Amino acid sequence: MAKVKAYATPGPESVLGPFEIARREPGADDVEIEILYCGVCHSDLHTARNEWQNTLYPCVPGHEIVGRVTAVGDRVEGFHPGDLAAVGCMVDSCGRCPSCRDGDEQYCDAGFTGTYNGPIFGGGENTYGGYSQRIVVKSSFVLQVRHDERDLASVAPLLCAGITTYSPLRQWGAGPGRKVGIVGLGGLGHMGVKLAHAMGAHVVLFTTSPGKAEDGARLGADEVVLSRDPQQMAAHTGELDFILNTVAAPHDLDAYLQLLKRDGTMTLVGAPAAPHPSPQVFSLILRRRRLAGSLIGGIRETQEMLDFCARHGIGADVEVIPMDYINTAYERMLKSDVRYRFVVDMATLR
Ligand code: NAP
Ligand code: ZN
Repeated sequence: MAKVKAYATPGPESVLGPFEIARREPGADDVEIEILYCGVCHSDLHTARNEWQNTLYPCVPGHEIVGRVTAVGDRVEGFHPGDLAAVGCMVDSCGRCPSCRDGDEQYCDAGFTGTYNGPIFGGGENTYGGYSQRIVVKSSFVLQVRHDERDLASVAPLLCAGITTYSPLRQWGAGPGRKVGIVGLGGLGHMGVKLAHAMGAHVVLFTTSPGKAEDGARLGADEVVLSRDPQQMAAHTGELDFILNTVAAPHDLDAYLQLLKRDGTMTLVGAPAAPHPSPQVFSLILRRRRLAGSLIGGIRETQEMLDFCARHGIGADVEVIPMDYINTAYERMLKSDVRYRFVVDMATLR
């Protein structure tokens, strides 16, 4: 066991502060990574504050991890000391159930093991995430980084915000000739705009923040709609093939369902602490519309997304922060004041 510096919270009412954790020595199938950058996901905040009522404490969040390999086990292939490597939201799963066999480990029947907060389903031992100096992970859950090393900070958010938007955009066929709505321009939303644009879709961004309209266009939106303006919303009734909703707070879903074409789907990836008001049945039955959900993405698909982003020169727009800024960063995230992902420079923890 190696002692490692980290940042943790002891309970839902506390702020995060310095903490020490133990990491296992790398086993035969493990990769040890010195963490260089870790993105700050809204899920980190939900978990640190026990908003989903499943948090194990102490809680060390962080599941957008990039760094350098420092050691590998005897059986590890494809990773060598000195390589860049990445870890996302999962560090293990059963490997045998139909979802795992399909490469959809995020839907593992036994419940995958989260990079932090342990086995998300079914209880078990806690795990500690990327707000730390080092991590040791089974090699089958470690990703290759093919971006230029100078862009490393902007790669970190791809490990959750990137894959969580890439997977549903692929699943529901975002591409040329399709009109795709992205709701919310935060960490996930801004990746959704970039990725849907790169896939060739016509992108309509829905934001509550008038000050983000220009950025929306720069990031790849063909149209920007201020979602609190009913007239702007009504102008898009029945137009969209697909909507990806990334909003982190409860809101009126009918306002968006109305904008779908016949057979259109709105997929929720935002996971607010409290439920959305129930949508009207008629929003769905009148045009055979669907309301769906999606959880991150599998390991194979995460690698595919990273390679797609490397090929297209895509990274997140980031504000790099020191570790001790994290509590302020959380408060700013709650005010939708992030452009568009905080990333912790882990050198500031040493
Ligand atoms: P974020 O950076 O805070 O972005 C959320 C955006 O939602 C905000 O920037 C804001 O965009 C919009 N928003 C916030 N409050 C709103 C409100 N009251 N009404 C309407 N819009 C509002 O968060 P994130 O990291 O992108 O995460 C978003 C959500 O996805 C979180 O709930 C997170 O836990 C969840 N998540 C889910 C998965 C998954 O696998 N399904 C994975 C990662 C994260 P505008 O200013 O443009 O309106
Ligand atoms: Zn996340």
